[in-house]
Amino acid sequence: MALVDDLRSTLGSDRVHSHPLELLVYDKDAGVTRGEAVAVVLPETTQEVAACVRIAASHGVPVVARGAGTGLAGGSVPAEPALLVVLTRLNEIWEIDEYARTAWVGAGVLNLDLSRATEHLGLHYAPDPSSQAACTVGGNVGTNAGGPHCLAEGTTVAHILGVEFVTSDGDVVMLGSKAPDPPGLDLRGVVVGSEGTLGIVTKVLVKLTENPPAVRTLLLTFDSIQAAAATVSGVIAAGIVPAALEMMDQPMVVAVEGFIGAGLPVEAAAVLLAELVGLEEGVVAEASVVERIANEAGATSVRVAADDAERAVLWKARKNAFGAVAQAAPDYYLHDTVVPRTKLAEVMTEIYEIGRRNNIQMLNVFHAGDGNLHPLVAYDAREPGMSEKVRAAAEEMVRVSVAAGGSLTGEHGVGLEKRELMGLVFEPIDLDAQARLREAFDPHGRMNPGKVLPTGARCFDFDLAGKKEVSP
Ligand SMILES: Cc1cc2nc3c(=O)[nH]c(=O)nc-3n(C[C@H](O)[C@H](O)[C@H](O)COP(=O)(O)OP(=O)(O)OC[C@H]3O[C@@H](n4cnc5c(N)ncnc54)[C@H](O)[C@@H]3O)c2cc1C
Repeated sequence: MALVDDLRSTLGSDRVHSHPLELLVYDKDAGVTRGEAVAVVLPETTQEVAACVRIAASHGVPVVARGAGTGLAGGSVPAEPALLVVLTRLNEIWEIDEYARTAWVGAGVLNLDLSRATEHLGLHYAPDPSSQAACTVGGNVGTNAGGPHCLAEGTTVAHILGVEFVTSDGDVVMLGSKAPDPPGLDLRGVVVGSEGTLGIVTKVLVKLTENPPAVRTLLLTFDSIQAAAATVSGVIAAGIVPAALEMMDQPMVVAVEGFIGAGLPVEAAAVLLAELVGLEEGVVAEASVVERIANEAGATSVRVAADDAERAVLWKARKNAFGAVAQAAPDYYLHDTVVPRTKLAEVMTEIYEIGRRNNIQMLNVFHAGDGNLHPLVAYDAREPGMSEKVRAAAEEMVRVSVAAGGSLTGEHGVGLEKRELMGLVFEPIDLDAQARLREAFDPHGRMNPGKVLPTGARCFDFDLAGKKEVSP
């Protein structure tokens, strides 16, 4: 194939894969959708990424950026025959500026490796997706990843100062800078969360965050989801924004205990993991307020982690929750929606009802403080009709979340999975505006086509005053 020959002459044979068995390794992410690339390349420099984009363009083949492939919405799964550009070898930490508290890192650096590299300076990279040991900083930029500690610190977009970026024509540009308020349009902000549809991020300028002087981690248990949800609302209403406020329901606690053995109470209907950070006096005072609110809501127990070791075990349990589900069934479908915090209990009740009505096994672990739900359905895809049933139930869960005033996705992105549901939260005119912006970056539709925006997002003309479609 001419495309593969050209790629090999630029990267060498060992970094260009096109055998069907090699392609199979890359035909899905951590979600459920599959799609095959025409070839997979493993560039090691920005210049090689740019060359791959130019070669693909010269053959009329679109390009899909892929980090570690831990995404859950099919973002890095080709929707049509495409060249898959895997960024994991751009894994150099170029600069750590401890005074400016910034770092320049390759897009392929693993999230956790960055915090490990800055630990000795008392600094860390704040966005901490539960997949942080495996996912890349570039992939985090692609999805605007969140994580347990993004409640107080904000998601990825709040921690990215700039990106080096390969355009759809294969040019290399810099968006953003170390300056706190750079002039011009905020194209850096547009690129964060764009799921590879505007171009490819090759280097990232991140903010580093100081490690807090004091930390308290509380494990609160409840005999109902409603009591746990009331505690979440009560804590925020009291003016306390914990660093993290995570909930697990009983089926998830049982799965995690079987996997990690962290000493979580398997008899509880729900547990909350609350983490408070700051100066010692403030942390002590806030912890006692959280404890009081939890007790008023009917907490059955309150445990404060005695030391860093116990704290680490509790977080290990939380961050391995999805892995634990592998014991329950061979397949899982993990959803990601957002609801207003005040509607947590109500929406969770509806979600359990959807699970019961469809007779599916459901486990829940989620960023409760953000109202970011993660209903997880464990199932066996080999059972006839099961995958379809699970997907239909998942769509119902999205619809109840949106109907409650929430949104389609909190952090995993739209990808292939939810693009046809975008109309639930956007008017056609909004989708058209997004499609026009995308065209400005990528007029030929080369970058990750078929993702994020639904079919036909740019196929209408609008009567702007009436916001209605006037011609197909
Ligand atoms: C067990 C588990 C736990 C998870 N927990 C969380 C969580 O707590 N919070 C959360 O937000 N997510 C979570 N995720 C989802 C996933 O880890 C994140 O979305 C992560 O940001 C994906 O990074 P990645 O390197 O794997 O990217 P990929 O999956 O390879 O790609 C994700 C998207 O970004 C694009 N992309 C990748 N690299 C680049 C680049 N360099 N330039 C431009 N676009 C690019 C891709 O095209 C794709 O659209 C979890 C996933 C798993 C499996």
